[in-house]
Amino acid sequence: MNIKQTWSKVKELKSSDSDVKKYIFEKDDAIAEAVLYKYGTFESRTVMCISTQTGCPMGCTFCGTGKFFGRNLTSLEIVSQVKHMISENDIEPSEVKKMQIMVMSMGEPILNIQCVSDAFHIFNKIAPHADLLISSAAPKTDRGWSCLLELATLIPKVGLQFSVHESTDAARDQIMPMKAKLSLEEIAIMGIMFFKTTGRKPYFNYCVHGNNNSDDDVMRLRMLFDPRIWEATLSVICEADETMSDAVSSQVDMVIAFSGKLVEKGFNTRVFDPAGQDDIGGGCGQLWAVQEFAKNNVNFKQSSGNKILCKTDLTEVKR
Ligand code: SF4
Repeated sequence: MNIKQTWSKVKELKSSDSDVKKYIFEKDDAIAEAVLYKYGTFESRTVMCISTQTGCPMGCTFCGTGKFFGRNLTSLEIVSQVKHMISENDIEPSEVKKMQIMVMSMGEPILNIQCVSDAFHIFNKIAPHADLLISSAAPKTDRGWSCLLELATLIPKVGLQFSVHESTDAARDQIMPMKAKLSLEEIAIMGIMFFKTTGRKPYFNYCVHGNNNSDDDVMRLRMLFDPRIWEATLSVICEADETMSDAVSSQVDMVIAFSGKLVEKGFNTRVFDPAGQDDIGGGCGQLWAVQEFAKNNVNFKQSSGNKILCKTDLTEVKR
């Protein structure tokens, strides 16, 4: 596949951290971002975070994409991000010991599950040993979740992570204004269904900050998520605003302390500190190029979640 047949422009952004690069794919009506990480060498561990939509309808307040939505990416556009990063970096997938392809850069994968599913079948051919992770903000859909369970049954490398981020629905509504989403209790039930269907543990992702790291938060998370079924990913907050990235380093200590509290309650935790956040926006939600593209493109509409935020006249939560 020639990348020029799928995208009119591809830009590579190098970080001062040589282990991370960002790629921006552009054409008239769409933009996608993908981030490539190596851990030591590509052969030892390679992680690719890719986009599934151009913009995103979910409207999360902390996300660089959240205020705009263009369209779903096609399966070809999803696959091309991975193929391009492989060819540009001379990665030989069969020689990579640990490879992870994650749909967590831009877009809500469950809202584009058919194309994600088609792309995952291709990834599973290109790199059969690669872990394929779906990270979802948990929208309500007619068929999205049943399609995901089918996919995860067919491909045993498919994993699932929910962006939970708060321990109450009220707090979660403030940062994820989309009304058509699962409640925390419904997420907990969906995770159990995933576990029962596949035998694999789902993850809940929690961005730790000064107002959601109390003992009460720990207790509520423990009540919702059974550590025999769930694992926790703890992240530093990814700032949508390029000027706020300095705050990140001071958050790492807070995340580690919160991780200790969850471990005491029986959870396995992993801490995600996105490399490249400071200069190229390596973290989820740091889609600065998308904001520029959206401003200049009439096909980009205000995202549904963000319209709800405007209608109810809530002040955007600055975290
Ligand atoms: S954080 Fe994820 S789900 Fe939320 S608006 Fe951004 S891309 Fe969409």
